Amino acid sequence: MTGVIVWGGAGRDVVDVNGFSRSSACFQHYPIRATLLASPAPPGRQERRVNVDDSVPHAAPLPPEPPAQPPHDADVLVIGAGLAGLRCAGLLAEAGVRTVVLEAGDGVGGRVRTDEVDGFLLDRGFQVLPTAYPEARAALDYDRLVLKPFYPGALVWADGRFHLAADPTRRLLDAIRHARTPIGSWADKLRLLRLTGAINAPDDDERWTWPDIPTADALAQAGIGEGMIDRFFRPFLGGVFADLDLQTSARMFAFVWRMFAAGTTTVPEHGMGAIALQLAGRLPQGTVALDTPVQAVAALDPTDGRAALAHVTLRSGDVLSARAIVVATDELAAARLLESATPPRRGRGLTCLYFDAPEPPIAAPVLALDGMGEGPVTNLAVMSAVSSAYAPPGRALVSATVIGLPQVDDAALEASVRAQLRGWFGAVVDDWRHLRTYRIAEALPDQAPGRLVPPIRPHILGGGLFVAGDHRTNASIDGALVSGRVAAEAVLAHL
Ligand SMILES: Cc1cc2nc3c(=O)[nH]c(=O)nc-3n(C[C@H](O)[C@H](O)[C@H](O)COP(=O)(O)OP(=O)(O)OC[C@H]3O[C@@H](n4cnc5c(N)ncnc54)[C@H](O)[C@@H]3O)c2cc1C
Repeated sequence: MTGVIVWGGAGRDVVDVNGFSRSSACFQHYPIRATLLASPAPPGRQERRVNVDDSVPHAAPLPPEPPAQPPHDADVLVIGAGLAGLRCAGLLAEAGVRTVVLEAGDGVGGRVRTDEVDGFLLDRGFQVLPTAYPEARAALDYDRLVLKPFYPGALVWADGRFHLAADPTRRLLDAIRHARTPIGSWADKLRLLRLTGAINAPDDDERWTWPDIPTADALAQAGIGEGMIDRFFRPFLGGVFADLDLQTSARMFAFVWRMFAAGTTTVPEHGMGAIALQLAGRLPQGTVALDTPVQAVAALDPTDGRAALAHVTLRSGDVLSARAIVVATDELAAARLLESATPPRRGRGLTCLYFDAPEPPIAAPVLALDGMGEGPVTNLAVMSAVSSAYAPPGRALVSATVIGLPQVDDAALEASVRAQLRGWFGAVVDDWRHLRTYRIAEALPDQAPGRLVPPIRPHILGGGLFVAGDHRTNASIDGALVSGRVAAEAVLAHL
């Protein structure tokens, strides 16, 4: 692994690379204020749910330094119950390590959560699980998720009607039947087949050695014409990357294109949040402390024999210690907690509107794309056509995704979305009931060229601190799961 902090001698304030360098101030002790440190867990205690309510309010003056051997409630504290944190905690628990996950939110899953609203299942932003994800295959029990497939292809809205763009490697007959479309020339389609063949080369790691150039450039270099890029790739990949300009590295394109081609694109029957619930369900009871935001972390100081453990300061003021701390938050929060000297580049935003429709505007489980670049909606899916559990009987759930964070209020956004979709589906759109709008500011970390190099960035920060999350790998469910595993392996080697 490269870029790992090197400790020792006078160099201990020279820390990690890739955006997680920390000032030496981070190595100073935090004032220990929490009574959790003063009230050790009984020896041999296996589990303890740590949350704000557990803490005993302190009245005594703060000790100036941590005690020599601070008692602790867990061997490892994981900050964040997103997929990376849950995966990491799961592997640690499996290895018999006492682990506590501290989560700021009121549920597990981070960016992969599903809300129930009036009997509809609303994923927090349109998301899919391609079954070919290698790490997901290892980490998840697909059978128990009851995965529901999308059609391998898309409907593209262009020139006043929908055109089917079928995946010729999976639906050859459909592809032939619908070959004459305004979505790309024959030459484009042949070049795309060649490109797909190259991406599908057998070695999975090869995709991370693809030219690290913007996806738009890679498509153009492959000879794909502007028509096909604008009508198909921009709305399709624009949704996947939250990036209509296709400035995301072609390495990410190669990875996701391979994943879509090699497996089935699905959602769990009961929503994407089921993925996180499955991971959390495997943890020993009480492992996850919800509504427990962490304010600061501090590494152990190996030159100071008194500070044997790393520390976490909760927003409540309580301080917890452990032999290792894994910061498994999103990139911005990680930079803040780790006092990164170089703040990360802002991530990419997505907005998702949900509607309750009396009739499904599209009966098939297929993604619909805005091939005209008119917007604001870039892609749309009738989620209840993919899994009937997404809507109550007799109703349909429509998910419409807008790339970015529109600078208008929800009512104005809804009005412009309806106006566009009236063009697609007619006046029935007026019968739809708006259920909710999700604006997700930091949906995906920036993945411009240079940002995915190397494919797995350092997870070890030194001093008992570790970092995990999709920003250490790639912005995907798979990337988060990989990162959680890599962090767990590093922690196990450290303990
Ligand atoms: C709208 C949308 C669509 C997407 N579509 C897809 C898709 O189709 N396919 C795909 O593979 N991927 C998709 N992704 C990406 C994928 O969801 C993420 O890459 C992945 O879930 C990231 O997981 P994570 O564990 O790294 O981070 P997160 O999910 O962000 O988890 C971090 C956790 O840390 C917690 N936290 C933060 N700060 C603190 C603190 N101070 N104290 C305690 N806890 C804290 C947060 O509350 C959160 O629970 C999508 C993402 C979004 C938002």
